[in-house]
Amino acid sequence: VTVKQGKIGSRILVFVRLRPLSKKEKEASSRSCVRIVNQKEVYLTEFANENDYLRLKRLRGRHFTFDASFPDSSSQLEVYSTSTSELVEAVLQGRNGSVFCYGATGAGKTFTMLGTVENPGVMVLAIKDLFNKVRQRSWDGNHIVHLSYLEVYNETVRDLLSPGRPLLLREDKQGIVAAGLTQYRAYTTDEVMVLLQQGNRNRTTEPTRANETSSRSHAILQVMVEYRVRDESNNVTNRVGKLSLIDLAGSERALATDQRTLRSLEGANINRSLLSLSSCINALVEGKKHVPYRNSKLTQLLKDSLGGACNTEANEEITQIPNSETNQTKLLLELQKENHD
Ligand code: ADP
Ligand code: MG
Repeated sequence: VTVKQGKIGSRILVFVRLRPLSKKEKEASSRSCVRIVNQKEVYLTEFANENDYLRLKRLRGRHFTFDASFPDSSSQLEVYSTSTSELVEAVLQGRNGSVFCYGATGAGKTFTMLGTVENPGVMVLAIKDLFNKVRQRSWDGNHIVHLSYLEVYNETVRDLLSPGRPLLLREDKQGIVAAGLTQYRAYTTDEVMVLLQQGNRNRTTEPTRANETSSRSHAILQVMVEYRVRDESNNVTNRVGKLSLIDLAGSERALATDQRTLRSLEGANINRSLLSLSSCINALVEGKKHVPYRNSKLTQLLKDSLGGACNTEANEEITQIPNSETNQTKLLLELQKENHD
């Protein structure tokens, strides 16, 4: 999910990526239940068990439309170019944007966002592209690139680049910030992959599955770019753009989507941040005046990268998102529900 901010508001784009069947799945002769029909459409097949009468009536397949669909043969670069490269461009104009990877545990979120050394994902490709674009700029704006990598786990915020005590969120001129969060000044792409992989190893693991990254942890990479521009009257001003790239927690526990359900499930084993994110996205998509950012740590942290305006124009109104996109986001949530019915 890509959230792009423009002068008049934000636009939400939704993509779907199919991952190849794993070795285990192949060995079990599993079949893929998703077929990529064309560049935008996927077809979800229902494989019903013949003895399962309850499911029989739902045997038909269903079509879903996205802004783009990526077959399992897609490269990391294709996914990056379609979903994120425009945002890197926007950040270099002093705007904010965000990209999320959403899906159940094992769907391929971390592979897509972080990737491997041989196959770097969106986070690394974005930084590489950013450095290239800065180098190509005809003027020297004294660009400074800072990275922060943090985790939201159980409504606790932690610094993945400098693990330690939980961080408190506070609101200042720049918006909501995590107090004491490391801002790592990056100079080259090469150092970034190592840094992020180290950070990823600091993500909270489930006590029962110590070798696996928790399915309940959200990892947020924030890339801040600061530079100077000279306007017509030769005044020098500072501009800041921010790109948030998020490897979300597994969506398997996020079955409820509205605020009422969120409250009634308080304390249960659900992911408050994930539910709040879907509430905020729904509110933005529906053009609502009130977007409930305050409900979770994740949505507070992303407030300036979701709806509203860029850092410099904090009071700009959130604007409407066209209808076709409403449908896509709804479908995304529906697809999710379908999987768990
Ligand atoms: P998630 O973060 O959603 O839980 P992972 O990214 O860890 O899922 O992916 C699960 C497994 O599938 C990993 O071993 C990963 O390397 C592999 N995988 C995911 N997506 C792809 C892909 N597009 N191509 C090849 N392997 C993939
Ligand atoms: Mg993961």
